[in-house]
Amino acid sequence: MKLDLKIQPLSSWMKIGHEPLLIAGPCSAETEEQLVATAHLIAKTGKASVLRAGIWKPRTRPGEFEGIGSIGLEWLKRAKAETGLPTAVEVANAKHVEEALAAGVDILWIGARSTVNPFTVQEIADALKGVDVPVMVKNPVNPDLSLWIGALERINAAGITKLAAIHRGFSSFEKTAFRNEPHWDLAISLKTLAPELPMINDPSHICGNRELIPYIAQKALDMDMQGLMIESHLDPSVAWTDAKQQLTPSALSDLMDHLTQRKPEVKDAAVKDKMAELRAQIDKIDDQIISKMAERMQVVEKIGAYKRDNNVTILQVNRWDEILHKRTSYAKALKLSTDFTEKLLELMHHESIRKQTEIMNHTTVAEA
Ligand code: PEP
Ligand code: MN
Repeated sequence: MKLDLKIQPLSSWMKIGHEPLLIAGPCSAETEEQLVATAHLIAKTGKASVLRAGIWKPRTRPGEFEGIGSIGLEWLKRAKAETGLPTAVEVANAKHVEEALAAGVDILWIGARSTVNPFTVQEIADALKGVDVPVMVKNPVNPDLSLWIGALERINAAGITKLAAIHRGFSSFEKTAFRNEPHWDLAISLKTLAPELPMINDPSHICGNRELIPYIAQKALDMDMQGLMIESHLDPSVAWTDAKQQLTPSALSDLMDHLTQRKPEVKDAAVKDKMAELRAQIDKIDDQIISKMAERMQVVEKIGAYKRDNNVTILQVNRWDEILHKRTSYAKALKLSTDFTEKLLELMHHESIRKQTEIMNHTTVAEA
């Protein structure tokens, strides 16, 4: 299934001066001097195609800096006039849209905390009717692909065809190395459903700290994402928001120099042949895995029927522990990571439990 989005190619609305596409700028516009000086330093690197800055900041807790407000739009105008960089800001309601458009902002984006709310997205979409402006939609805070798709559909239905998605990671209850878990699988699912939709990665908000940014930025390019949005501040140590994750323009420039851009298409015939041969091997192995999985489930069903007839619980913790233990050490010996093996086993185990529950309940219904 593919999504029915009407999209104009990125190259038709974004002048990409340097590959890969980079949208850079401070998390927040703080003062006129900070914004304009940062913009100049970013422009001087020659590596950014767009200047970003938050004017209205959605803060999790009240009492924190909530953005400088409309006055920041004037500063952005000045930064653009002096550097030639087109500008991008986050909008979270109809008033923001109107003010940003009136101030000549070139690109609007919808933040993660707005994408979660269909009312908000619809309000923004309504304000965009009849307007020809590029819009980028960040993924929602929670790992819900439908909300992300829904927001893109609402904006697209308002007539916005210069559309892009921004992958900024998803919050999770567990503490991990990332501020927001990347969940690459969700971004890949969206790319698969809408291959023509440009996808921009935001390593700053995924990482939450400077150290991990190069790793995520490179991975995004390796996943064939079309560009990067990275927060940059002339002096991150005194930034009013997201201080830990912002890069100085010179660190940003270094980062861009060290990224490797790979091509999604293979041109060389010999490489193509070799890849086709290896892919055929993968296809064969995948078919074998699926068929073995089906075989396993048939045995699981038989066990389910035995458990039912002998009044045994579906879950037997000891047995599950034993499986997990034995298989992971075997897998480790075969150089498979424990994390991967555990996830795979857990997935199979869930499905087995689901099947056995079905068998148990089926009888209950039949007996009733
Ligand atoms: C931002 O870009 O500064 C921002 C608030 O991002 P997000 O919506 O991804 O949290
Ligand atoms: Mn930020």
